[in-house]
Amino acid sequence: MKVTVLGSGTFIPNLKRNAPGYLLEFNGKKILIDCGSSTLLQLEKIKSESYKELDYIFITHTHTDHVSDLDALLHVLKWNKGREKELVFVGPKEFKDFYLNYLEPIIEGNCDFKIMVKEIEDNFNFEDFNVEAIRTKHTDNTNSVAYKFIIDNKRIIFSGDMGYDEKFIEFSQDGDLLILECTISTTEKNGWNGHLNAEQCAEIAKKANPKKLILTHLHKDEKDNQKKLEIVKKEFPNVELAYDLMEIEL
Ligand SMILES: [Zn+2]
Ligand SMILES: [Zn+2]
Repeated sequence: MKVTVLGSGTFIPNLKRNAPGYLLEFNGKKILIDCGSSTLLQLEKIKSESYKELDYIFITHTHTDHVSDLDALLHVLKWNKGREKELVFVGPKEFKDFYLNYLEPIIEGNCDFKIMVKEIEDNFNFEDFNVEAIRTKHTDNTNSVAYKFIIDNKRIIFSGDMGYDEKFIEFSQDGDLLILECTISTTEKNGWNGHLNAEQCAEIAKKANPKKLILTHLHKDEKDNQKKLEIVKKEFPNVELAYDLMEIEL
């Protein structure tokens, strides 16, 4: 099983860190988690035309940095033929409306493969894995979730964008891998609980106790990112900063 970080950045253009996207691969299956700008190119860097091989696309929320390459992906899948297997989208509440308004018009009900769109409340059992979701504290007008994939007794958690929440700590307990956003810079006061700072990431990691912690959703200032890493490391040693095309074997 392998997780590849396609984008470790945010909504702000950054030449080193693309917008959020992660590829989870196991038993020949490919799951994309979020699809910000350049996700398609990042997939292409891993393997030519690997975008044709995706089985599932999980979206944490519909902010542009997490979805803006979905239209490009569907456009190329429709016209660059060669995909026949079903594609399953999973998103939070109201994701179906987003799909119908912004993505279905690209397909126009006309392509060589079936598309399923599901909204997740708390969990789904798929053929060979289980996934749980929890609503995150992010923005008031957008539904956002974190995902926990349970595959072959391994737990891989993707926080999406979120503010501090004890419920998330319970949800992410004892994961094999926790990919946690750490957006707020060390110089910024986190007056708004819609993203995490390094101290909060450390607190979550200490309480949730993952085997491995990766900090992501990082801004351009790499000195500041290093400071975030040091702050978290003091409390939770098994932590690394995400970087684009980082591979994590499980
Ligand atoms: Zn974001
Ligand atoms: Zn967001």
